Amino acid sequence: MRQRRIPASVILGRALRLRCPRCGDGHLYEGLAKMYERCSSCQLKYERAPGYFLGSTYINYALTALVITVLFIVLRFKVEVARETLLWPMLALCLLLPVLLFRHARSLWLAMDSYFDAEGFRSDPDGTVPPGQPAGLGVLTESGAHPLPDTHSGEHGHQA
Ligand SMILES: [Zn+2]
Repeated sequence: MRQRRIPASVILGRALRLRCPRCGDGHLYEGLAKMYERCSSCQLKYERAPGYFLGSTYINYALTALVITVLFIVLRFKVEVARETLLWPMLALCLLLPVLLFRHARSLWLAMDSYFDAEGFRSDPDGTVPPGQPAGLGVLTESGAHPLPDTHSGEHGHQA
């Protein structure tokens, strides 16, 4: 009876192309950093709740840390660049990368949410989070029921 979930690889592909996670047609951005409010194809509201994209900063941080760490290890120990030579370019990269990754961090956040809250994205015509629900990866349901207790904290709904 349950509809099939969109495969993670498809959702990831859509995220990397900065497309709507639900239909894959609509663009997420209308300019460099300005997001469309809704998908032009399926009308999914991208910012599902106020502050929804705050979680994307974790993705941005993780990607930045990963790139910096790998790059440092390769340049320092494989290419054998001196630490003093690496310091300033690496610091500059620490500031630049989050700006460069901003769009994809939001896109990946939306993609993750659409994967883990597949039912919410499928059943809601515009994909908004119901009132009282935590925004972003907080609603993990299999049947459309909402198993979260009515608490003031959004910390309890995350996947274990
Ligand atoms: Zn769409």
